[in-house]
Amino acid sequence: SEEKSLNFIEEIVENDLNSGKYETLVTRFPPEPNGYLHIGHAKAICLNFGLTQKYGGYTNLRFDDTNPVTEKTEYVNSQQEDIRWLGFNWKNELYASDYFDELYGFAVKLIEKGLAYVDESSADEIAALKGTPTEPGQDSPHRNRTIEENLDIFTKMKNGEFADGAYILRAKIDMASPNMLMRDPIIYRIKHAEHHRTGNKWCIYPMYDFAHGQSDSIENITHSICTLEYVSHRELYDWFIEKLEIFPSKQYEFARLNLTSTVMSKRKLLQLVNEKLVSGWDDPRMPTISGLRRRGFTPKSIRKFCERIGIAKRENLIELSLLEFCIREDLNKTANRVMAVLDPIKLVITNYEKGTEDLIGENNPEAEDGGGTRVIPFSSQLWIEREDFMEVPAKKWFRLAPGAMVRLKFAYIVKCEDFVKDENGNVTEIRCTYIPESKSGSDTSGINVKGTIHWVSAPHAKTAEIRLYDRLFTSETPDAEEGDFKDYLNPESLTVLPNAYIEPALADADLDGRYQFIRKGYFCLDKDSTADKLVFNRTVTLKDTFKK
Ligand code: ATP
Ligand code: MG
Ligand code: MG
Repeated sequence: SEEKSLNFIEEIVENDLNSGKYETLVTRFPPEPNGYLHIGHAKAICLNFGLTQKYGGYTNLRFDDTNPVTEKTEYVNSQQEDIRWLGFNWKNELYASDYFDELYGFAVKLIEKGLAYVDESSADEIAALKGTPTEPGQDSPHRNRTIEENLDIFTKMKNGEFADGAYILRAKIDMASPNMLMRDPIIYRIKHAEHHRTGNKWCIYPMYDFAHGQSDSIENITHSICTLEYVSHRELYDWFIEKLEIFPSKQYEFARLNLTSTVMSKRKLLQLVNEKLVSGWDDPRMPTISGLRRRGFTPKSIRKFCERIGIAKRENLIELSLLEFCIREDLNKTANRVMAVLDPIKLVITNYEKGTEDLIGENNPEAEDGGGTRVIPFSSQLWIEREDFMEVPAKKWFRLAPGAMVRLKFAYIVKCEDFVKDENGNVTEIRCTYIPESKSGSDTSGINVKGTIHWVSAPHAKTAEIRLYDRLFTSETPDAEEGDFKDYLNPESLTVLPNAYIEPALADADLDGRYQFIRKGYFCLDKDSTADKLVFNRTVTLKDTFKK
């Protein structure tokens, strides 16, 4: 296996374990249940769970559900399903909302230490005194009320005596700090909203900065790993822990995953879903884990992708084609090769008089166990791809054309003798003769042909709908474009081929199966399939466009 050097977070963890700073490594994955998880989350999942798989200890799943408005139980459930599907198990399932009582207690403790105060200034007034990155801010006129008065008003806030926005609770830090986040940040706000778990128990909710680090500390998280946007929050994270004298969790930041030709914030993905620009969170074009799963990605390919891109300290942009490379590499080893004709045209073999015969096809020459074989029925009436015939062949054309010969995969060499056109001039049928001595595996014909094409026997074929996908956006960086990111949606991201023919062995396909349709790519069954109509998604084409 590949010898890999440690990433910078592994180095920190190894040092901390070797020096005895911590005995047990504890990490957490802290999604906000406000949408489905995406491939960026997969990176954070692989990192957090990967660390404790490697170094021992454990990883908690903590729903960061302190914002009552956007959170739903549907999202909690889908997030759990996706983490499990990726192959990871958490030690404890926890909810930041379970800490509301403790967090409230922490706020009271800060007030009692003279380190927090209630403020009735309006949002505009607060902004006006906030200063700028180069100029210090000014103290709020309410900054110096007594501890007793602060406790009294904060209690009334909790008891629902005020309307939304009437008061906030602020940490009393330093209005001149060069770090804007240290200028008396808001730690609690009034919000009369029902919460998906605590119902109407609370009408005040902690802000992210006051909930996250304290939740880490309550759980004895040793390494709290987050993305680079939180670098400037670290000072505040440490300040709360120090002033509250609680378990010293430490925050470390890495570069978030950015992928070309897609968007990755749950808020934006939700817009696509709500505006019906995609069929749902699990639309196979979505960068969500559920979308990738439906598209045919395997957990292994996603884990491998996360490993390949590594853990960086600086922002970067990863090519979508690297993700495709990873799934291709996995499926090449595991997917059986089968035949499907996506855009069919009839081929008739005029001298084939056997009726039908069973041919033997290799399932997967790349499989570690050899792959085995299957029976493929053959007859004089076949479907082939329309694009495999040219009435007037181009230069170096090795497929079918009048007078040309080609091998039918697993079967015989055929020669095109004639073709039939309809009144509009479209070719409707190709007529061939076959060479009986040219059967694959026992060919004594002595004829060499350059082209091999796939086919399906018409009387044996099953019909299927095939869905082909392209990039969801035409821009490589839809987030960075002028105007709305949705203006850059690719109108051709989905192509439906309603009348494809597949070999009969595929009638048994199930949702876990992965198939290589010879020459056409890797495919999987879609959940829209019914007994009467199978639907297949193309996961990825065969061609590797990723430049290594
Ligand atoms: P989004 O805006 O996409 O909803 P988020 O950071 O608000 O992202 P959370 O649910 O809070 O979403 O994220 C849970 C964890 O996943 C966080 O620790 C966050 O750092 C991590 N994460 C989110 N997006 C990415 C990404 N693109 N790359 C790596 N990690 C990510
Ligand atoms: Mg977040
Ligand atoms: Mg978010």
